[in-house]
Amino acid sequence: MRFDVFTLFPEVFGPYLHTSILLHAQENGLLEVHLHNIRDWTSDRHHVTDDEPYGGGGGMVMKVEPIFAAVEGELGAPPACPVILLTPQGRLFNQQIAQELAQQPRLALICGRYEGVDERVRAHLVSDEISIGDYVLTGGELPALVLIDAIARLAPGALGDPDGAWDDSHAAGLLEYPHYTRPPEFRGWEVPEVLVSGDHGRVARWRRQQSLLRTRQRRPDLLEKADLSEKDRQFLSQLDAEDENMDVQDI
Ligand code: SAH
Repeated sequence: MRFDVFTLFPEVFGPYLHTSILLHAQENGLLEVHLHNIRDWTSDRHHVTDDEPYGGGGGMVMKVEPIFAAVEGELGAPPACPVILLTPQGRLFNQQIAQELAQQPRLALICGRYEGVDERVRAHLVSDEISIGDYVLTGGELPALVLIDAIARLAPGALGDPDGAWDDSHAAGLLEYPHYTRPPEFRGWEVPEVLVSGDHGRVARWRRQQSLLRTRQRRPDLLEKADLSEKDRQFLSQLDAEDENMDVQDI
């Protein structure tokens, strides 16, 4: 999978992309990230990429020409792949959108700065607009990294464990069960007995039930849309009948 990122600050991507799973994905040929500095596509002597807003008011707006020149120069006109603008006004990013975008062999990401980009970029160049949450950052670079990270780890083979992404919170509409590793006891807090029992059937059942219990406690809104089996529903209605305040570890 290939990402083409258009930004005024390509230097902020390096350390994150060259670490851990994303580094390995690139070394194994599963991921390519091409960074393009929008400033390289200006045609004036001073390489101006932003200007004052028409109509007045504070802040600066990223100019339309360098962004079109950069994206069309790299990807052709019209662009050869989906072009995503990172903006707090876009559709809210989630695991389902990550899965949808992971089907694409190539994606372009445009990072805004200052007050954002000239509206004509949104209207005539991009095919999608994505927000990573209802808050405002100083630039689209962190949101672009969030997308790259969430999407790249879904590539088959990117995670060491082939099933690694399957159980994750949100993958199947539920929060994931709790994890433990050695030591079996720390300050008197023990790992649940079932996890060290060696009984795979019991472990699987416990994990599914913890997942349902957690989701019910923390994100009941997710349960309404989750893909539940008859057994899952039975477990949930049993919980409904029991004490509302049952602790996650009590099962
Ligand atoms: N004035 C704009 C916000 C500009 S923030 C508005 O009110 O809509 C500057 C840039 O940061 C944006 O162009 C966008 O690329 C990026 N950005 C900020 N918050 C973001 C978010 N929640 N999701 C995605 N991109 C964001």
